[in-house]
Amino acid sequence: MCGIVGYIGKEKSLPILISGLKALEYRGYDSAGIAIFSNDKIEIKKSVGQVKILEKVLKDDIDLVGHLGIGHTRWATHGIPNEKNAHPHNDCAKRIFVVHNGIIENYKEIKEYLQNHGHNFLSDTDTEVVPHLIEDFLKDKKDFHTALLDTLKMIKGAYAFAIIDSKNSDTLYAVKLSSPLVIGVGKHENFLASDPSALVGKTKNVIYLKDGEIAEITKDNINITNLEKQKTHSEIVRLEWDLEQAQKGNYPHFMLKEIFEGPEIVLSALRGRLKGKENFVKLGGLEQVAEKLKETKRLIILACGTSYYAGLVGEYLFEEIAKIPTEVHFASEFRYREEPFEKGTVAIAISQSGETADTLAAIRKAKEHELLTLGIVNTVGSTIARETDAGVYNHAGPEVGVASTKAFISQLIILTLVAVYLSKSNGHSKNHALLQELEKIPKKIKTILDRSSELEKLAEKYKNCDNFLFLGRRYNYPVALEGALKLKEISYIHAEGYGAGEMKHGPIAMISENFPTAAIVPQNSVSEKMFSNLEEIKARKGPIFAIATEGDKRIVSLANDIFFIPKTIEPLEPLLTVVPLQLFAYYVGTKRGFDVDKPRNLAKSVTVE
Ligand code: GLU
Repeated sequence: MCGIVGYIGKEKSLPILISGLKALEYRGYDSAGIAIFSNDKIEIKKSVGQVKILEKVLKDDIDLVGHLGIGHTRWATHGIPNEKNAHPHNDCAKRIFVVHNGIIENYKEIKEYLQNHGHNFLSDTDTEVVPHLIEDFLKDKKDFHTALLDTLKMIKGAYAFAIIDSKNSDTLYAVKLSSPLVIGVGKHENFLASDPSALVGKTKNVIYLKDGEIAEITKDNINITNLEKQKTHSEIVRLEWDLEQAQKGNYPHFMLKEIFEGPEIVLSALRGRLKGKENFVKLGGLEQVAEKLKETKRLIILACGTSYYAGLVGEYLFEEIAKIPTEVHFASEFRYREEPFEKGTVAIAISQSGETADTLAAIRKAKEHELLTLGIVNTVGSTIARETDAGVYNHAGPEVGVASTKAFISQLIILTLVAVYLSKSNGHSKNHALLQELEKIPKKIKTILDRSSELEKLAEKYKNCDNFLFLGRRYNYPVALEGALKLKEISYIHAEGYGAGEMKHGPIAMISENFPTAAIVPQNSVSEKMFSNLEEIKARKGPIFAIATEGDKRIVSLANDIFFIPKTIEPLEPLLTVVPLQLFAYYVGTKRGFDVDKPRNLAKSVTVE
């Protein structure tokens, strides 16, 4: 996880590092630190907590004037979040300074070896072995580059490093394996970041570093080589995100801003891809594998967290629209399965960041089995986007709130488009109603957002609950799971999502007047069954908060509170039913006094396994 930034160039590095760290803070925020080459030596500053605390500590520092520096915002894996464990870490001689994203799996053996060779360690982190190991290799009169290479050959695990050396004020080193790093290419200056959101407003030209590459970055040059010291080919990619998208604007939190971007997100996911009148979906990203896709016999969706729940909606979509048997797997579990794969099986990875370590590992396993792999990814040029055979971008702009909202909406749109694209009826009138309705979704989401104050009031009423049950059926079953996840992520209220039919097989034991249920019960093919489940809850005095279709009179006598949504067709319901649940979670979280953009213990872009 964690955020890494680096800068070398004509400007003072400190403000650039701080603004980059702030942009990356969603990746980890338990401590932060910087190292800057100033007045012929490297100065280092760290603090526990968010970047704003580090910023305060540095406010009056007049020594940090240098033009080369690195910074880090941490999501602790090894050692508690305190100052000594905050990055950067350095060697005994205070020559080499390193920030790290990831885990060094064999750090214990290396640390023991180094301690036996006289190295003194100051932290509990795995990271600290790296500067000491480079220092140790340098003792054999090696040059820095060779010492770094030897270090990389010795460590196992996942990493992205930014490194500076006090004997070389002209160079910023960057290395990666499995964890992401992107170089921002400027004029007489270059930048480094764990993801492009930190580069927005600084440069639009980026190079994604590949696994096993080492970049030596000076202010006018970027030299990228592999572990064999050979030059590698790197492409400069153009970023599409702009500054406004990456800022909060007038919203108090990114999460609220991103929920309110819903209508725009849908439009941008559909743009150029939908010919509603011709009943046709065109996905440029899949064209190169179009022939192979015609032979699809089975789909396997690989994802984690909110993307996994989008995948569960996808399962219903693919089976109903494309008539292709589909399974959804937690990416983190997929790797342990030993199932045989038939020819014609296609794996689809869903990941907002395109860097999710578990999803990446799952897609690599799918490739080992020679499956065709597709990516549904938001971040252009990210690792999953590059490693899959083909894919479709969400075009949702940067998502900063740690609890995903707009990415979920855009994933649902893309999954719907892919389902139509894979169906034999793409271009036929059979899909007319679906595609026409898809175009109406942005307006319908807007009518929900316009009534957000109703949800704010409901949040006030329910904010002190200890538990919450979320129920839905069919397309809304995954929405129930997602609604529960959202609430627990940002309000720390225990919440569980269930398929409503499962309630009587266990969860009903929990129902009481102090255990409310959020029921997703729009008028559809399963509403009769949902109503029966709600009767069962009511008979046990459980309070019910229902998401129901406008004009539905039956729900009035059953539910204590109702939020009405516009009518839509069943496969598209999740696009509407999830929005009030996102807003509800947001308001409960803020009313309980939490920083909903940075929920405790979490981080976005989960780049550890
Ligand atoms: N494993 C390192 C640590 O615990 C890096 C964690 C991160 O990616 O923030 O310090």
